Amino acid sequence: METIIKLTEVNKIYRTEEIETQALENVNIDVEKGEFLSIMGPSGCGKSTLLNIMGLLDEPTSGEIELCGTKIDPRLSDNRLAEFRNRTLGFVFQSFHLISSLNVLDNVQLPLMYRGVGYGERMRRAKEVIERVGLSHRMKHTPVQLSGGQCQRVAIARAIVGNPEIILADEPSGSLDSQNRTELHRLFFDLRDTFGQTILIVTHDEELASISDRVVRMSDGKIIV
Ligand code: ADP
Ligand code: MG
Repeated sequence: METIIKLTEVNKIYRTEEIETQALENVNIDVEKGEFLSIMGPSGCGKSTLLNIMGLLDEPTSGEIELCGTKIDPRLSDNRLAEFRNRTLGFVFQSFHLISSLNVLDNVQLPLMYRGVGYGERMRRAKEVIERVGLSHRMKHTPVQLSGGQCQRVAIARAIVGNPEIILADEPSGSLDSQNRTELHRLFFDLRDTFGQTILIVTHDEELASISDRVVRMSDGKIIV
C-alpha cells in the first residue's frame, strides 16, 4: 500500500478580532492510493477546512502535509503551490463553481489552459472527459441551460480533465435530488475503478458512506473514527 495523503498533527485556528476558532485539532490521517473515503460530521465540525488544507487551498496553523510523497513546504511560492495543486488535485464543490459565461467545453478545458496545454490537445481531452460524464450532447450549453445534476457532472469533468491523482469533493451531491445523487456517486466509483484515482468526499449521505472503503467521522475539529 502506498500512502498518497498524510497529515501529521495538523491544527487550524481561525482568528478574528473577537473570536478564535479551532477548526482542526491535532488531526492525523493517512489515505492510501486508490482509496474511496467519505468524510462525515455535523455542520461546523471542520470537514471543509480539512479538505481545503489537504487540497492546498488553505494553510494549516501548524502540522505537516505530504501529498504524493512530497512534503509541502509552507515557504513555497503561491505560483509553485498552484502549479502543484493543478497537477495533482481535482476539486468538486457543492455549488459547482462553473463560469457562467463559458459553455461546457470551455469550462472543462480551462485547467489545461492554465497548464499551458495547446488548443488541440485541450479540446481533445475536454471532449473525452465530457463524454465520460455523459454530456457530449450538451457541449455548447452554458451552465444556466443545465440542471443541477448536469452542472455537477461538468464540474467533475473539469476536475478530472488534467488526470489528477486525487479528487476532493465537498458535499458534491448536497444540492441534488436522490436520483441525481445516486448517479453522481456511481460516477465517482466508476472513476476510481477505471483510473484508480483516490477520492475523498464530504457527505451527509449514509448510503454513500456505507459503500465507501472507509468513513472518517469528525466532531469539533477532531477525527473521532
Ligand atoms: P464544516 O465544513 O464541517 O461545516 P468548516 O470547516 O467550514 O466546517 O468550519 C469549521 C469551523 O471553522 C466552524 O466553526 C467555522 O465557523 C470556522 N471557520 C471556517 N472557515 C472560517 C474562516 N474563514 N474564518 C473564521 N472561521 C472559519
Ligand atoms: Mg463544509
